[in-house]
Amino acid sequence: MKKIIFSVLVCTFLSCQENRPHGNQYKLPELTPNNLLIGSLNENRSSYRVSFYDINIDFDIEEKSLDGFVIIKAESIRDLNKLQIDLAENLSIKKVTHRNEELSFSRELDAVLIDFTSTIKKGSMFEFTVFYHGVPQNADNPPWAGGFTWSKDKEGRDWIAVSCEGEGARIWWPNKDHITTEGDSVRMVYTVPSEMVAVGNGTLRNVITNDDKSTYEWFVSNPINNYNISVQIGNYVAVQDTFIKDNTIHNMNHYVLDYNKELASNYFTQSKEVIRFYEKYFGDYQWYEDGYKLIEVPYLGMEHRSAVTYGNGFSIYNGVRSKSWPMYGVIDPLIIHETGHEWFGNSVTASDPTHIWIHEGLQVYSESIYFEDKFDSYEVGVHYLNTIKDRIVNEIPIVGRENENHWALHGDTYMKGAWVMHTLRSVINNDDVWFQILKEFMVENAKGFANTSDFFAKVAEKTNKDYWYFAEQYLYTPNQPKLEYYQTDNDFYYRWNNVNKNFIMPLDLLVNGEVVRVSPSSEYQSFKISKHSQVEIMNWKFYVEPVQMN
Ligand SMILES: [Zn+2]
Repeated sequence: MKKIIFSVLVCTFLSCQENRPHGNQYKLPELTPNNLLIGSLNENRSSYRVSFYDINIDFDIEEKSLDGFVIIKAESIRDLNKLQIDLAENLSIKKVTHRNEELSFSRELDAVLIDFTSTIKKGSMFEFTVFYHGVPQNADNPPWAGGFTWSKDKEGRDWIAVSCEGEGARIWWPNKDHITTEGDSVRMVYTVPSEMVAVGNGTLRNVITNDDKSTYEWFVSNPINNYNISVQIGNYVAVQDTFIKDNTIHNMNHYVLDYNKELASNYFTQSKEVIRFYEKYFGDYQWYEDGYKLIEVPYLGMEHRSAVTYGNGFSIYNGVRSKSWPMYGVIDPLIIHETGHEWFGNSVTASDPTHIWIHEGLQVYSESIYFEDKFDSYEVGVHYLNTIKDRIVNEIPIVGRENENHWALHGDTYMKGAWVMHTLRSVINNDDVWFQILKEFMVENAKGFANTSDFFAKVAEKTNKDYWYFAEQYLYTPNQPKLEYYQTDNDFYYRWNNVNKNFIMPLDLLVNGEVVRVSPSSEYQSFKISKHSQVEIMNWKFYVEPVQMN
């Protein structure tokens, strides 16, 4: 009995590890009271827009605690006396101030309702400060189950990092924790023991050392998703590199543990090739003012904007924490995946986290395009997609419900999301148009928000066809279309099963080596064939299940 239990636990652990960051849920979550408070832009959240976060945190590493204050600058959208910010309920608020006055507040789960003593008129800029402290949640399995990772490096020294996509930035600092709320700019001021270095997003503006503590001031001058704001604390050194584009030299200052400096200075140069690839297919890198850097962390990695975290062991063939990803020995899986998120997610952000295939499905799909481009081979791209195909489970739809704080980061968002894009390319059957769709969608929504409808509106615009039936099948149901078929001496019969009534996707067959496009419906149709013809369903181009009927 013990043996059985052990093997079940190991399987669960491995399957979890094998998923891309952060795919580990195979059920639509329940609408809890907290998800209702955090998931929608209710009247106490839609009444103001955040323009600036000034985050100030002093870390006590022995106690694994933090003590800080955050100044929130905002603009009122309407007259308001009350507003909601968000902070995990296990963190304590010492006080909230506005114009040197203490404000009263109440807390409900992760929501904090702040009362102002006088009305803030519509269109006013105002600021308030939240003073707080506490022990933030530990990361159970970063980056999939996030929080703080309090780790040690090989020399036994403290090494700390945070990851919180899905959990939300409110697990460590107060903010309006909705995916569409991004500060226009953010200042991060982190105080740590003086022998350590604290690395945040963007550029380093200042370091002040007093007695036994050092304070690092970081700044991002572009909008940034809350969950992308990060802190990494360790015995870091900078690895300086440059990126040249259009005769302009951009600095890249990576941060790694001191003993990995030589290794990283060679290894991290591959990030430049990745940036060039994404610029070619998906438009300009949007964050040159904030730089680009990789930061070594004690977990797999995460797409923290302009501070991409990396923990995959500097190994070009797979790496220490991601053994199952085929990368053909040409690129580190973490560097390409998390850097690609500077486009998918960090620049074009889902307007509700239930549409997060726009981050992850497109990201994994773009990796197949990277290999197609790198090897100048469509077949290698397809091979990559085939290696991830058996991780698709088809249990819940890729897109769930809006306004419920549903971070759709389950496995199908990644692998099936990529296959859905690959299938759509095959359906459209015009690569010029397909790559224009991808690039225009990314360029037109850069530094903005988009949902599934927005993507398919772009598809319709470029193809003059409505492919919403395709989205409804592949993104809003978990059902993989089945092509049921059989052949006689003279005829080949085929029909769709397991599909929506309106599903009219054409499909390519290989008939004696010739591509034949058919338009199956739920009723059997047929075409003439010669005796002993070989007919193959091209399921390497279309995510369909061929089912031979007898
Ligand atoms: Zn990802």
